[in-house]
Amino acid sequence: MSRQYHNYIHGEWTEPKQGEYLANINPADRNDTIGDFPNSTSDDAVIAIEAAKSALAGWAGLSAHARGEFLRKAADILEQRVEEVARGLMREEGKSLPEAKGETLRGVTLLRYYAMQTMLPDGEVIPSAGAKTFLYTKRVPLGVVALITPWNFPVAIPIWKAAPALAFGNTVVMKPSELAPLTAYRIAECFHEAGLPAGVLNVLFGQGARVGETLTSHPDVAALSFTGSVKTGRLLSSQANAYGKKIQLEMGGKNAAVILADANLDQAVTLTIQGAFKSAGEKCTATSRAIIEASVYDEVRRRIVEKTQALKVGPGDDPDAYLGPVISEEAQTTIINAVSEAKNEGVEVLCGGTIPENFKAGFYVLPTVLDNVKPDSKIAQEEVFGPVLALMKADDANHALEIMNGVQFGLSASVFTRNLDAAFDFADRAQAGMIRINGETAGVEPQAPFGGMKASSSYSREQGLAARDFFTQSKTISIDRSG
Ligand code: ADP
Repeated sequence: MSRQYHNYIHGEWTEPKQGEYLANINPADRNDTIGDFPNSTSDDAVIAIEAAKSALAGWAGLSAHARGEFLRKAADILEQRVEEVARGLMREEGKSLPEAKGETLRGVTLLRYYAMQTMLPDGEVIPSAGAKTFLYTKRVPLGVVALITPWNFPVAIPIWKAAPALAFGNTVVMKPSELAPLTAYRIAECFHEAGLPAGVLNVLFGQGARVGETLTSHPDVAALSFTGSVKTGRLLSSQANAYGKKIQLEMGGKNAAVILADANLDQAVTLTIQGAFKSAGEKCTATSRAIIEASVYDEVRRRIVEKTQALKVGPGDDPDAYLGPVISEEAQTTIINAVSEAKNEGVEVLCGGTIPENFKAGFYVLPTVLDNVKPDSKIAQEEVFGPVLALMKADDANHALEIMNGVQFGLSASVFTRNLDAAFDFADRAQAGMIRINGETAGVEPQAPFGGMKASSSYSREQGLAARDFFTQSKTISIDRSG
């Protein structure tokens, strides 16, 4: 019998109203059930929203410093539990143990960073037309915020949304992905142990579609922050817009690494492979296209294929494994089908594209490199979300930019070059929210804004001071002392 977990509502571990649960499966071994987590319904969502509403005045009424203290305590607890949390993350999500540990420690950093932000100025003084009028602005919370998060960064994304939401005085209903609930449960435990007042953070497990409309339409929810697929993001945004909620969406990417002829090819190849295959390519910022200048195309292709063929797949605790399984059997099938379809359309599979023979119990896909990929083909346009890298040839830097920008997404982009002018030109012209010169497309720093352009985002940014902009609203106050 696997352990049964419960929702975290009003500071208590609460059974779902309808008593339905979902098994959380280890993607490296389908026979390993990690636990059963609530498959919550609208009734549970309403209770969670009511709990968050009841806690709002008390939480918003604390000083920002006092709220920051809870974040600091939760950070210390998470840091003490890093090994346990990372192992759980690896077991339910499939990424390697070092990546899982790195992500958990990033969660600690994020909590401390947003605790620090509670000490920043929260408004400005503006000169008034009246000689005896004091005019100023003050940031105030939005209210109850709903956070819907994906499985691929189950520590980082829930924390980078919840920490600023809480720091700035909002109360939270969080719905983590049903595919990686244990890590969200651990985060809730850390806040609980830190003594967070009841109702300030509520965590609701289960499938999003069962609670999504309640979270987006309930009159006591002020805002929604979502990370996940374009399909779900668009649906949630139309629902939330209809009810006048503030919305932040982070969705897909079709990120490219552009390799120009003057690049340091060793660096370019290593970082392109890293961006494409670490975490089995399951990052919204993963490199899914390598656009290579014609004069070095053959050489770069040879090196990429040689290195990719040497990569080992295996469970997250195998120190030799470069990449683990993908998240689910469904994801595995989707990825394999996308490659087969591309093959039928004339794409050449240089390596991978299949399920490895020796790991049938898990949802593995061999790292895959594709050649003869037409820029307007489906495989070059649509997100695959797996270890698949499409190679494309460009005549020159201009042509590379044209190919790169010719997709609906605009999350991250990188260029490898030693030419300063080409680098700046790329930074100016790349239609992407995150740009790396001589760096891989994946990777974010908590103190800098994160987000995409075009269909990748909703013109809002997360992290850094941008998080404060989303999770607060401003009041303008004038005080007249002439009387
Ligand atoms: P992914 O492909 O990353 O799983 P999804 O968009 O399906 O992307 O999932 C991201 C998050 O959105 C998860 O927490 C999931 O449960 C939630 N979700 C999925 N469908 C809906 C929906 N219809 N309404 C609300 N949330 C949803």
